[in-house]
Amino acid sequence: MPEILEVEMYRRAAESVVGRTVRSFATNDALVVKDGSQIQTLVGSCVREVGRHGKLMTIHLDHGSIDLHFGMAGRIIVDGRSPIDELVYGASSNDRWIRFGMQFDEGFLAITDPRRFARVSTSQKMSALGPDAFSEGLFDLVQPRLPVKGSIKGVLLNQQVIAGLGNMLVDEILSRGKVDPRRDISMLSGSAIRKLFSAVVVILPELLERGGSHMGDLAADLRVPGSRCPYDAHELARDTVAGRTTYWCPHHQK
Ligand SMILES: [Zn+2]
Repeated sequence: MPEILEVEMYRRAAESVVGRTVRSFATNDALVVKDGSQIQTLVGSCVREVGRHGKLMTIHLDHGSIDLHFGMAGRIIVDGRSPIDELVYGASSNDRWIRFGMQFDEGFLAITDPRRFARVSTSQKMSALGPDAFSEGLFDLVQPRLPVKGSIKGVLLNQQVIAGLGNMLVDEILSRGKVDPRRDISMLSGSAIRKLFSAVVVILPELLERGGSHMGDLAADLRVPGSRCPYDAHELARDTVAGRTTYWCPHHQK
Protein backbone atom coordinates (compact mmCIF):
# COMPACT_ATOMS: atom_id res chain seq x y z
CA MET A 1 0.00 0.00 0.00
CA PRO A 2 1.38 3.46 -0.81
CA GLU A 3 2.57 5.14 2.39
CA ILE A 4 4.32 8.49 2.71
CA LEU A 5 7.52 7.20 1.06
CA GLU A 6 5.79 5.82 -2.01
CA VAL A 7 3.73 9.00 -2.40
CA GLU A 8 6.93 11.05 -2.10
CA MET A 9 8.38 8.93 -4.94
CA TYR A 10 5.20 9.56 -6.94
CA ARG A 11 5.50 13.29 -6.24
CA ARG A 12 9.09 13.38 -7.43
CA ALA A 13 8.11 11.54 -10.61
CA ALA A 14 5.19 13.93 -11.17
CA GLU A 15 7.48 16.95 -10.90
CA SER A 16 8.51 16.30 -14.48
CA VAL A 17 5.08 17.57 -15.64
CA VAL A 18 5.59 20.99 -14.02
CA GLY A 19 5.41 23.62 -16.75
CA ARG A 20 3.22 21.47 -19.02
CA THR A 21 -0.27 22.55 -20.14
CA VAL A 22 -3.19 20.12 -19.81
CA ARG A 23 -4.87 19.26 -23.11
CA SER A 24 -7.44 16.84 -21.69
CA PHE A 25 -8.40 14.93 -18.58
CA ALA A 26 -9.65 11.35 -18.38
CA THR A 27 -12.23 11.49 -15.60
CA ASN A 28 -14.72 8.83 -16.60
CA ASP A 29 -14.32 6.57 -13.54
CA ALA A 30 -16.92 8.19 -11.30
CA LEU A 31 -16.03 6.04 -8.29
CA VAL A 32 -12.42 7.25 -8.28
CA VAL A 33 -12.89 10.76 -9.71
CA LYS A 34 -15.37 12.58 -7.50
CA ASP A 35 -15.97 15.81 -9.38
CA GLY A 36 -14.97 15.16 -12.96
CA SER A 37 -16.89 18.13 -14.36
CA GLN A 38 -15.02 20.50 -12.01
CA ILE A 39 -11.70 18.96 -13.02
CA GLN A 40 -12.60 19.34 -16.71
CA THR A 41 -12.76 23.14 -16.23
CA LEU A 42 -8.98 23.03 -15.66
CA VAL A 43 -8.24 22.02 -19.29
CA GLY A 44 -5.79 24.58 -20.67
CA SER A 45 -4.19 25.21 -17.25
CA CYS A 46 -0.47 24.83 -16.73
CA VAL A 47 0.95 22.67 -13.90
CA ARG A 48 2.79 24.95 -11.47
CA GLU A 49 3.80 22.69 -8.60
CA VAL A 50 3.33 19.19 -7.21
CA GLY A 51 2.94 19.05 -3.43
CA ARG A 52 2.47 16.33 -0.85
CA HIS A 53 1.10 16.23 2.68
CA GLY A 54 1.21 12.80 4.29
CA LYS A 55 -0.21 10.35 1.75
CA LEU A 56 -2.05 13.10 -0.14
CA MET A 57 -0.50 14.47 -3.34
CA THR A 58 -1.70 17.75 -4.81
CA ILE A 59 -1.15 18.99 -8.34
CA HIS A 60 -1.34 22.77 -8.41
CA LEU A 61 -2.36 24.32 -11.73
CA ASP A 62 -2.91 27.93 -12.82
CA HIS A 63 -6.60 27.87 -12.02
CA GLY A 64 -7.06 25.23 -9.36
CA SER A 65 -5.60 22.20 -7.64
CA ILE A 66 -6.26 18.47 -7.81
CA ASP A 67 -5.87 16.11 -4.85
CA LEU A 68 -4.76 12.54 -5.46
CA HIS A 69 -5.25 9.82 -2.82
CA PHE A 70 -3.74 6.52 -3.86
CA GLY A 71 -5.79 4.25 -1.61
CA MET A 72 -4.68 0.63 -1.24
CA ALA A 73 -3.01 0.03 -4.58
CA GLY A 74 -2.97 3.24 -6.63
CA ARG A 75 0.15 3.93 -8.70
CA ILE A 76 1.23 6.89 -10.72
CA ILE A 77 2.41 6.56 -14.29
CA VAL A 78 4.31 9.50 -15.79
CA ASP A 79 5.14 9.38 -19.49
CA GLY A 80 4.70 5.62 -19.47
CA ARG A 81 6.83 4.88 -16.42
CA SER A 82 6.00 4.07 -12.81
CA PRO A 83 8.54 5.23 -10.21
CA ILE A 84 7.81 2.23 -8.00
CA ASP A 85 9.09 -0.73 -9.95
CA GLU A 86 10.21 0.93 -13.16
CA LEU A 87 7.75 -1.25 -15.01
CA VAL A 88 7.32 0.24 -18.42
CA TYR A 89 3.69 0.80 -19.34
CA GLY A 90 2.94 0.92 -23.00
CA ALA A 91 -0.46 0.30 -24.55
CA SER A 92 -0.67 -2.85 -22.45
CA SER A 93 -3.58 -4.55 -20.77
CA ASN A 94 -2.82 -2.45 -17.70
CA ASP A 95 -4.39 0.49 -19.48
CA ARG A 96 -7.74 -0.84 -18.35
CA TRP A 97 -6.74 0.03 -14.78
CA ILE A 98 -6.24 3.71 -15.59
CA ARG A 99 -8.72 5.59 -13.40
CA PHE A 100 -7.59 9.15 -14.03
CA GLY A 101 -5.39 10.76 -16.62
CA MET A 102 -3.92 14.11 -17.62
CA GLN A 103 -2.84 14.44 -21.23
CA PHE A 104 -0.31 17.16 -22.05
CA ASP A 105 0.99 18.43 -25.38
CA GLU A 106 3.64 15.82 -24.88
CA GLY A 107 3.32 12.98 -22.42
CA PHE A 108 0.75 12.10 -19.80
CA LEU A 109 0.22 11.44 -16.13
CA ALA A 110 -2.16 8.69 -15.03
CA ILE A 111 -3.30 6.82 -11.95
CA THR A 112 -3.75 3.10 -12.29
CA ASP A 113 -5.60 1.22 -9.59
CA PRO A 114 -6.94 -2.30 -10.06
CA ARG A 115 -8.81 -2.07 -6.74
CA ARG A 116 -10.42 1.38 -7.28
CA PHE A 117 -9.74 2.72 -3.78
CA ALA A 118 -7.86 5.72 -5.19
CA ARG A 119 -9.65 9.07 -5.06
CA VAL A 120 -9.18 12.15 -7.22
CA SER A 121 -10.92 15.47 -6.59
CA THR A 122 -10.44 19.20 -6.79
CA SER A 123 -8.56 20.27 -3.67
CA GLN A 124 -10.25 20.09 -0.31
CA LYS A 125 -9.15 21.74 2.90
CA MET A 126 -6.49 19.66 4.64
CA SER A 127 -7.15 21.08 8.09
CA ALA A 128 -8.10 17.67 9.50
CA LEU A 129 -4.70 16.17 8.68
CA GLY A 130 -1.95 16.20 11.27
CA PRO A 131 1.54 17.46 10.47
CA ASP A 132 3.36 15.71 7.65
CA ALA A 133 5.65 12.99 9.04
CA PHE A 134 8.65 14.58 7.28
CA SER A 135 8.07 17.93 9.08
CA GLU A 136 10.93 19.68 10.84
CA GLY A 137 10.39 19.70 14.61
CA LEU A 138 7.94 16.82 14.24
CA PHE A 139 7.41 16.00 17.92
CA ASP A 140 6.52 19.56 18.92
CA LEU A 141 3.94 19.68 16.12
CA VAL A 142 2.43 16.31 16.99
CA GLN A 143 2.43 16.63 20.78
CA PRO A 144 -0.75 18.78 21.10
CA ARG A 145 -2.62 16.26 18.92
CA LEU A 146 -1.73 13.14 20.89
CA PRO A 147 -4.76 11.43 22.43
CA VAL A 148 -4.63 10.47 26.10
CA LYS A 149 -5.74 6.87 25.44
CA GLY A 150 -5.50 4.26 22.72
CA SER A 151 -2.95 1.75 21.42
CA ILE A 152 0.30 3.36 20.30
CA LYS A 153 -0.11 1.62 16.96
CA GLY A 154 -3.52 3.26 16.48
CA VAL A 155 -2.08 6.65 17.46
CA LEU A 156 0.70 6.44 14.86
CA LEU A 157 -1.74 5.31 12.17
CA ASN A 158 -4.15 8.17 12.94
CA GLN A 159 -3.71 10.65 10.07
CA GLN A 160 -5.16 13.43 12.20
CA VAL A 161 -2.26 13.00 14.66
CA ILE A 162 0.54 12.52 12.12
CA ALA A 163 0.01 12.36 8.37
CA GLY A 164 1.68 9.77 6.18
CA LEU A 165 2.42 6.66 8.23
CA GLY A 166 0.83 3.35 7.20
CA ASN A 167 0.87 -0.19 8.52
CA MET A 168 4.39 -1.23 7.54
CA LEU A 169 6.12 1.98 8.58
CA VAL A 170 4.39 1.96 11.96
CA ASP A 171 5.47 -1.65 12.64
CA GLU A 172 9.04 -0.68 11.72
CA ILE A 173 8.98 2.39 13.98
CA LEU A 174 7.64 0.38 16.94
CA SER A 175 10.17 -2.39 16.37
CA ARG A 176 13.11 0.00 16.35
CA GLY A 177 11.58 2.00 19.21
CA LYS A 178 11.20 -1.28 21.20
CA VAL A 179 7.54 -0.62 22.00
CA ASP A 180 4.77 -3.24 21.92
CA PRO A 181 2.19 -2.01 19.37
CA ARG A 182 -0.67 -2.86 21.75
CA ARG A 183 0.70 -0.63 24.52
CA ASP A 184 -1.71 2.11 25.52
CA ILE A 185 -0.24 5.57 25.03
CA SER A 186 -1.33 6.44 28.58
CA MET A 187 1.17 3.83 29.83
CA LEU A 188 4.15 5.36 27.97
CA SER A 189 6.30 8.07 29.53
CA GLY A 190 6.72 11.41 27.80
CA SER A 191 10.33 10.59 26.99
CA ALA A 192 9.38 7.18 25.52
CA ILE A 193 6.89 8.88 23.20
CA ARG A 194 9.44 11.51 22.24
CA LYS A 195 11.92 8.73 21.43
CA LEU A 196 9.44 7.10 19.09
CA PHE A 197 9.08 10.31 17.12
CA SER A 198 12.86 10.65 17.02
CA ALA A 199 12.85 7.20 15.41
CA VAL A 200 10.37 8.42 12.77
CA VAL A 201 12.78 11.19 11.80
CA VAL A 202 15.60 8.66 11.28
CA ILE A 203 13.59 5.88 9.64
CA LEU A 204 11.74 7.81 6.94
CA PRO A 205 14.75 9.17 5.01
CA GLU A 206 16.57 5.87 5.49
CA LEU A 207 13.75 3.79 3.98
CA LEU A 208 13.15 6.33 1.23
CA GLU A 209 16.79 5.81 0.31
CA ARG A 210 16.40 2.00 0.49
CA GLY A 211 13.40 2.11 -1.86
CA GLY A 212 10.17 2.25 0.15
CA SER A 213 8.19 1.32 3.23
CA HIS A 214 8.60 -2.41 2.53
CA MET A 215 12.40 -2.08 2.92
CA GLY A 216 12.55 -1.79 6.72
CA ASP A 217 14.52 -4.12 9.00
CA LEU A 218 11.12 -5.74 9.55
CA ALA A 219 10.95 -6.19 5.80
CA ALA A 220 7.94 -7.26 3.77
CA ASP A 221 9.18 -10.88 3.49
CA LEU A 222 9.20 -11.21 7.31
CA ARG A 223 5.48 -10.42 7.42
CA VAL A 224 4.46 -14.08 7.33
CA PRO A 225 3.56 -16.42 10.22
CA GLY A 226 6.57 -18.10 11.84
CA SER A 227 9.20 -15.55 10.81
CA ARG A 228 11.84 -14.33 13.24
CA CYS A 229 12.99 -11.00 14.62
CA PRO A 230 15.85 -9.54 12.54
CA TYR A 231 17.60 -8.36 15.75
CA ASP A 232 17.36 -11.29 18.19
CA ALA A 233 15.85 -14.21 16.20
CA HIS A 234 12.85 -14.64 18.49
CA GLU A 235 9.64 -15.62 16.74
CA LEU A 236 7.52 -12.63 15.76
CA ALA A 237 4.02 -12.26 17.13
CA ARG A 238 1.16 -11.54 14.75
CA ASP A 239 -2.25 -10.12 15.62
CA THR A 240 -4.76 -7.51 14.54
CA VAL A 241 -3.95 -4.24 16.31
CA ALA A 242 -5.84 -1.03 15.54
CA GLY A 243 -7.65 -2.95 12.81
CA ARG A 244 -4.47 -3.88 10.95
CA THR A 245 -2.38 -7.05 10.68
CA THR A 246 0.57 -6.34 12.93
CA TYR A 247 3.93 -8.05 13.45
CA TRP A 248 6.15 -7.45 16.46
CA CYS A 249 8.82 -9.09 18.57
CA PRO A 250 7.58 -10.00 22.07
CA HIS A 251 11.20 -10.30 23.22
CA HIS A 252 12.47 -6.79 22.55
CA GLN A 253 9.22 -4.81 22.21
CA LYS A 254 7.65 -4.15 25.62
ZN1 LIG B 1 13.35 -8.87 18.70
